[in-house]
Amino acid sequence: MTPVIALVGRPNVGKSTLFNQMTRSRDALVADFPGLTRDRKYGEGTYEGQRFIVIDTGGLTGDEQGLDAEMARQSLQAVEEADIVLFMVDGRAGLTAGDELIADQLRRSGKQAHLVVNKTDGQDPDIAASDFYSLGFDSTFLIAASHNRGIRSMLELLLPSEDEREEEDRAGKYPGIRIGVVGRPNVGKSTLVNRMLGEDRVVVYDMPGTTRDSVYIPYERQGEQYTLIDTAGVRRRKNVREVVEKFSIIKTLQAIDDAHVVILVIDAREGLVDQDLHLIGFVLDAGRSLVIAVNKWDGMDPEERAKVKEQVRRRLDFLDYADKHYISALHGSGVGVMYESVQACYESAMAKWPTNRLTAILQDAIAQHQPPMVQGRRIKLRYAHQGGSNPPVIVVHGNQVDALPGSYKRYLENTFRKVLKVTGSPIRFEFKSGE
Ligand code: GDP
Ligand code: GDP
Repeated sequence: MTPVIALVGRPNVGKSTLFNQMTRSRDALVADFPGLTRDRKYGEGTYEGQRFIVIDTGGLTGDEQGLDAEMARQSLQAVEEADIVLFMVDGRAGLTAGDELIADQLRRSGKQAHLVVNKTDGQDPDIAASDFYSLGFDSTFLIAASHNRGIRSMLELLLPSEDEREEEDRAGKYPGIRIGVVGRPNVGKSTLVNRMLGEDRVVVYDMPGTTRDSVYIPYERQGEQYTLIDTAGVRRRKNVREVVEKFSIIKTLQAIDDAHVVILVIDAREGLVDQDLHLIGFVLDAGRSLVIAVNKWDGMDPEERAKVKEQVRRRLDFLDYADKHYISALHGSGVGVMYESVQACYESAMAKWPTNRLTAILQDAIAQHQPPMVQGRRIKLRYAHQGGSNPPVIVVHGNQVDALPGSYKRYLENTFRKVLKVTGSPIRFEFKSGE
């Protein structure tokens, strides 16, 4: 799907200049369809492989009447149809009555728009923008269209990244929350998959695959959609004697990549072994959220149980943000509550946080505990925004960020995790130095 970006704003704020920058060439597919408003323009652009369409809606002044009213109506229709609406204002002229009227029309259209403050060249961008905060927009971009400044980072934030496009693709194929069940041979994956697909679930259909692929099984549970990624191949086996390769590392890695949430199954009778830790490493490297299922908990005596719990606590202390469940796939105990962890993991992995909120958390964290000085200058962290999901990516902008010590990065991660209540999922951080 090609996203459509609509530009709105008073005349002279710089819409055509931005339009030309986004479409690169002045002559790039500028279709003037007869019968449409005289100055509505359509163009096509590309950013990092993502194509998009831009519409310069022209026409809006905020107080149109008569013929102009028809033009305004058409502009607002373009707004309705767009995926992304950019409301442009002039950072030199400051806030005008016309801006307020257009902002009001946008608000009434119910469409979420981003504020773009243009012409921030030759002045302090923050001061240029402060005039417009009263318009109450959630996200604001500061650009200088004629200097091609701020446009790329704006597009990076507005357009889906390659990861997001892949996710869209998977989501189209496999509905709901995708759960990968992985683990060493014989830990009880097949038993758990069968248990999770128990009688009270509606299995929609099995996705056929080759023996190398996992089986994708969409189903419903308590009104929620899931797709179980079965690496053990239980659903494929027609009878017990049919030989199916039971464990394959390729299958496991693909299942991890394709999942929202990975349930890693461990055999309580064997305890936590190195291979389990390797698998956990794969899951974390892939950035997937993780639920630990310590299986075969039935029939173990209290002493053994205490020993396993202690081992899990000690060897997985770096995973304190992931839920651990002690279950019996065979008898079904503990399997139901595991869905609550799956749900929480999914919400954490796919959460969307506004820039304002992330920046406020960053600033609080800095106020509590300043970043260190490097060569007599303090490292500055200015703002944060979200750069992706599954795993959530938080992009922090500042100065001298390359010198930021690992301990401070971990402090930030812990702070964000606590405030945003991220369970089960890793959080990725990217640090960028200012222009
Ligand atoms: P439109 O009517 O909204 O399409 O505005 P235009 O794109 O035609 O721009 C109006 C005027 O503002 C032109 O003279 C542009 O050169 C100028 N302009 C556009 N962007 C910038 C900018 O970033 N900085 C400055 N200083 N001038 C700009
Ligand atoms: P997979 O290779 O990971 O798919 O493991 P299976 O599901 O085939 O299970 C391996 C063996 O462990 C089988 O004999 C199962 O019956 C047994 N098993 C699985 N889950 C449990 C459990 O919760 N408790 C007990 N006692 N045995 C289990």
